[in-house]
Amino acid sequence: ATLLRFAPSPTGALHLGGLRTALYNYLYARKTGGKWILRIEDTDRARQYDPCNKLLDSGHAYRCFCSPDKLAATREKLARTGSNSTYDKSCLHLTEEEAARKVRAGEKFIIRLNDGKPPDRPTGYDLVFKNLKDAHQSLPTDPVLLKSDSFPTYHLASVVDDYEMGITHVVRGEEWLPSLPLHLDLYACLNLPMPQFAHLPILLNADGTKMSKRKGDKRGWEPSSVLNWLALAGWGVQDASASASHKQAPDSTTLMSMEEMIQNFDFSVLTHRRSVLDPVKLEYINKHHLMRLMTTSDGLRTLAERTQPYVKEAYPDSPHHDLAYLGKVIFALQGRTTKLSDIPALGPFFFVEPDYTSAEAQKMRQSLPNDNYATVVESLLGRLRDLQTAWETATLSEVLHDENAKTSLKQKEYMTILRHCLTGMKVRTNPVSVRVSAVKLINVCTQTGPSVADILYVLGPEHSLARLQASRP
Ligand code: GLU
Repeated sequence: ATLLRFAPSPTGALHLGGLRTALYNYLYARKTGGKWILRIEDTDRARQYDPCNKLLDSGHAYRCFCSPDKLAATREKLARTGSNSTYDKSCLHLTEEEAARKVRAGEKFIIRLNDGKPPDRPTGYDLVFKNLKDAHQSLPTDPVLLKSDSFPTYHLASVVDDYEMGITHVVRGEEWLPSLPLHLDLYACLNLPMPQFAHLPILLNADGTKMSKRKGDKRGWEPSSVLNWLALAGWGVQDASASASHKQAPDSTTLMSMEEMIQNFDFSVLTHRRSVLDPVKLEYINKHHLMRLMTTSDGLRTLAERTQPYVKEAYPDSPHHDLAYLGKVIFALQGRTTKLSDIPALGPFFFVEPDYTSAEAQKMRQSLPNDNYATVVESLLGRLRDLQTAWETATLSEVLHDENAKTSLKQKEYMTILRHCLTGMKVRTNPVSVRVSAVKLINVCTQTGPSVADILYVLGPEHSLARLQASRP
């Protein structure tokens, strides 16, 4: 069975790159029916280090008694002569007796890998980066395994832990690729079976710069869409010139639930190309995840629960904080909502009474046909008071069309009158399209208001009638 691990060092908050690494570990474990482990790599703790003795015995490692000053001098000298090596291996030539005497005398030492003597050097390979040429070029000369405080270096500890835990797949960030040759050597020298490696390409900001740990806007995103967005950064997605043979490949905005991600995931779908984490794509993905989630009543309820704090914060005195009402608001605003935290701003009229004295409301009122205004409102009021059928969007929509037909007004004029009555606000239509791929256009912020029938439905009979009455000239 597969066993994976996500092994963050406890050095700060989890960043998006780390989250993606954790996600891929999880997806592969789930896909293969295996397990994954969270391993916090705190290298500040003391441990017993048997593996070093094994390496000393086999001659794959040796004690180095050089002082830090001497090492610095050697490194400088080597650099001056144009050498690539970082150590002159002087301690490699100590006899066993000499070394033993120094240990007895209490001299400090470190343990180095004797990299001139690896038994059977494995060729570097990686499930994402494939065959690595010159896998050993990036190594320092005889890398340190045990420090003078007798703590193992990170590399040795990590390799031994992976072996002892029975890890089958090491999935981690590209920043560890330069260390892979050393890890491969360690497996070979210790005669341990190797796991498979998958290094994940570096994540870039939309402007192509390397992603830092800076704080983004964390409010209001759906967990499922953040994961979807992260998963696609590193997935071998087809954008721009999607060729016919790649029709099946997802593009960088393909919507996937967790189950779908698990189903579609494999190391072979990953790319080693650096991937851009574009916030515009997160907006698109989030909007569509919201629409998917609200198709079930459970999903809608969860969304309402998550929206409630934003509404309470924006409109603390509103009588409309209950989940059933919020569910209706969310549904009415679907396709317009990029993230849940936008809801208070997208539908203020759902939460506060219209202010007919505002500059916007008055200007709007002046642009409306005066003769019709009162008639339209009176007639609709009458119809709605006597409504025999259920208060549903479809019914309300029919009533509105009926009423509209009694007037000489165009639909747009008729609806604008009612919008004024019910909201005191103009409808905002302000779509901004952003091209995200050859085939898809994203409407980033279509701030179009919900239909009048939707507004009536959400407000309910009591509030709707009250507003219509209040708006009468
Ligand atoms: N602790 C390492 C890190 O935080 C993990 C390296 C690995 O996964 O092997 O990057």
